[in-house]
Amino acid sequence: MSPEEFRRYGRQVVDWIADYLSTIEAHPVRSQARPGQVRAALPAHPPEQGEPYEAVLQDLSRVILPGVTHWQHPNFFAYFPANASGPGILGDLLSSGLGVQGMVWATSPACTELETVVVDWLAELLGLPDRFRTDAAGGGVIQDSASSASLVATLAALHRASGGKVGADGISGRYTMYVSSQTHSSLEKAGRIAGIGASNVRVVDIDPVTQAMDPVHLRALIDADISAGATPAMVCATIGTTSTTAIDPVAEIGAVCREHGIWLHIDAAYAGVAAVCPELRWINDGVASYADSYATDPHKWLLTNFDCSVLWVSDRQPMIDALSILPEYLRNSATESGAVIDYRDWQVPLGRRFRALKLWSVIRWYGAEGLREHIQAGIAQAAEFAALVAADQDFELRRPHPFGLVCFRPLRTNEETMALLERINDSGELYLSHTKINGQVFLRLAVGALLTTSDHVKNAWAAIQRANQQL
Ligand SMILES: *Cc1c(COP(=O)(O)O)cnc(C)c1O
Repeated sequence: MSPEEFRRYGRQVVDWIADYLSTIEAHPVRSQARPGQVRAALPAHPPEQGEPYEAVLQDLSRVILPGVTHWQHPNFFAYFPANASGPGILGDLLSSGLGVQGMVWATSPACTELETVVVDWLAELLGLPDRFRTDAAGGGVIQDSASSASLVATLAALHRASGGKVGADGISGRYTMYVSSQTHSSLEKAGRIAGIGASNVRVVDIDPVTQAMDPVHLRALIDADISAGATPAMVCATIGTTSTTAIDPVAEIGAVCREHGIWLHIDAAYAGVAAVCPELRWINDGVASYADSYATDPHKWLLTNFDCSVLWVSDRQPMIDALSILPEYLRNSATESGAVIDYRDWQVPLGRRFRALKLWSVIRWYGAEGLREHIQAGIAQAAEFAALVAADQDFELRRPHPFGLVCFRPLRTNEETMALLERINDSGELYLSHTKINGQVFLRLAVGALLTTSDHVKNAWAAIQRANQQL
């Protein structure tokens, strides 16, 4: 493709995206595709001869779009939002255009140094402690996902707990980590990948009302494991659980960790970005005193296209010691001088995209003020929806709902609630997801998509009430 052809098709693609986003409400929110439908509409074999790019664009509309669930649709309320904004999309496109591999500083200095600046900016925007900053002992790094952030934190914790022995000799003896039933599944996965083993991932009790981790039970489990000869490596506390956005008591958990020198990781994948609003900084109470690592996802609710998850550590050394390997072909004078950061030592893969460009685009376009307004709008819409639910005697509302997620249920059996959910989602009008709290099915409505307005939320509630009456 020549530069002139690229220019022509590039404009068509940008127009296509702009048209898509401005007419997105014409699509059913959840794809109505049947299993195998998209695959059956595609040729079984790759083309021998190259095709004109028009053919790709035609198939995009004809074959691909019907199989797409529209995450940017203003009536997408399932899971958590996955914001894609104009500046986020453009930043990602620029990253593709430059096509750099930022594995070490020397392979593209700007890729590393812009990342350092934007993660420090974000730490400041969220009011995170100064020790997470790169000019202190810590630092931040952009990962593909909070799941990778969990794994990196686990590996660093294991390195510290074993005095470096695990990396050198493999696991010998028993290491344990601590989560709750509400912790994201990526933590258990990290424990399995790191070699801790699923049976050494301890599940701490939760308070049945708040769904938050019980620090008294945490202490009891840790004491029992130490008595039995195990080495506790890490505790993960969550700020904003995936199921209900519950908040674990970080300060109390942190005090237990400190007593035993256990690494405290904070998973704030969804909710952490809400701290751009000073009135929500309380969600991070305890983080400044106790957290060894902290992850949040601008790719969920902070207007930045997937993938962009930021992990901060308060001491970068155990992480680097756990992950750094320097083969001959990567040796270079900048690395040797010690004056630069090589982010390959802060993640599992070697190669890395120039993800900082999209976060930089987003922060510059919106400014702190625009970011706050986006979060505040989501929280206000969630509150508006919750008030509607609370006023209907046929529904139960779960409180509190400090972020953009509202959990609620019709006063029906679990089977009926699931049938209601399917009816709503099959309509294509809106898309919700569900969770189970103490055995009871709740519906989850998560606002935060860029195009969602208060009217969308009101209409969603009317559609839910209608579907409930028709059940
Ligand atoms: C969404 C979520 C994750 C996983 O995030 P990815 O970036 O998709 O890996 C982890 N923890 C919590 C609390 C989440 O809500």
